[in-house]
Amino acid sequence: MKTQDYINREDQYGAHNYHPLPVVLERGEGVFVWDVEGKRYFDFLSAYSAVNQGHCHPDIIQALTDQSQKLTLTSRAFYAAALGEYEEYITKCFGYDKVLPMNSGAEGDETAIKLCRKWAYEKKEIAENEAKIVVCEGNFHGRTVTIISMSTDPDSYKGFGPYTPGFITIPYNDLDALAKVLQDPTVAGFLVEPIQGEAGVYVPDEGYLKKAYALCKKNNVLFIADEVQTGIARTGKLLACDHEEVRPDILILGKALSGGVYPISAVLADDDIMLCIKPGEHGSTFGGNPVAAKVAIAALEVVRKEKLAENAERLGKLFRDELHKIKSGRIELIRGKGLLNAIIIKPKGNQTAWDVCVAMKENGLIAKPTHEHIIRFAPPLVINEEQIMEATAIIRNTIESL
Ligand code: PLP
Repeated sequence: MKTQDYINREDQYGAHNYHPLPVVLERGEGVFVWDVEGKRYFDFLSAYSAVNQGHCHPDIIQALTDQSQKLTLTSRAFYAAALGEYEEYITKCFGYDKVLPMNSGAEGDETAIKLCRKWAYEKKEIAENEAKIVVCEGNFHGRTVTIISMSTDPDSYKGFGPYTPGFITIPYNDLDALAKVLQDPTVAGFLVEPIQGEAGVYVPDEGYLKKAYALCKKNNVLFIADEVQTGIARTGKLLACDHEEVRPDILILGKALSGGVYPISAVLADDDIMLCIKPGEHGSTFGGNPVAAKVAIAALEVVRKEKLAENAERLGKLFRDELHKIKSGRIELIRGKGLLNAIIIKPKGNQTAWDVCVAMKENGLIAKPTHEHIIRFAPPLVINEEQIMEATAIIRNTIESL
């Protein structure tokens, strides 16, 4: 079978809810992936920042295979030896009293919303069904009905109503708007991405998170950070909130919590918040299963041992410096933090960021456009300096030749 045969088969039998770049991958190692015809590519998407530790990291794969031969799933009807070990590890790692384990990022966000509402009724004494959560324009928190109800992107919400009530939308990076909305005593939480990834890597002004957090504290509102994409060393610190020394009241993690090996998400909070949810009120058959528990420990250990946050910080700067050297009128803007970066492409005729990505693929680097003119660059954090230079040469040659 050739590339086109694989594409045709997916098109015929799979739902058309994605629009993939025309490359069919079958193998990955570190920063590289190979297609079905044996061609090698730099992976500059890392499965939307899930593969921070690099493809098929041997330590994580070892944890996966060891545990999967021992015990895979018990459900939470019983205690499991691996779960407590993971719970202790992750809560100590991030400095919270408790963790609630789930699977996908969207479930992590759903969990945080439920937790915030429960806290609102039990602790803040907001009248039943009145609690509101403030969210930001341009947000991306996943694809469930409640989550798309908070979205301002018609691709996410249009045609899927009726929507879940209880959300107030304000502009991102706008502290005045936040201060104003927090005066409403029925507001229970502020849910925010420290950098808006899917929206196109929007980095807020320095001090935004810290001041937003202070406003939340002043008004007895929970600061909820969605670090599903920005967390686990991606932006040059373990959490993007660490850049401003903000400790969220509720922290949502996903993606790289497994190094891209397994769907694992987690919500962390202290007892005062987490214990508002009682037995039987929330859960998931697979959440916190023994394989997930061991995989997540291994994935976090890789981040620590290989100093991936430091690497992302250092090589992120180098990467942006190299991008700034590209001599092309096609790049309108370069922005990002650590190894979560994006460029905005100036359209030429009807050539868009998609065409740039197709051309980069031909030259051996894969990345994906987000919205029409933005290309996100998020390589695995195990990338080294030489590879960054090789990859930026591909980006430069591609853009300069268009
Ligand atoms: N939150 C953020 C910030 C994300 O970027 C994403 C996915 O891109 C999600 C939540 C949803 O994660 P998942 O696709 O695992 O449900």
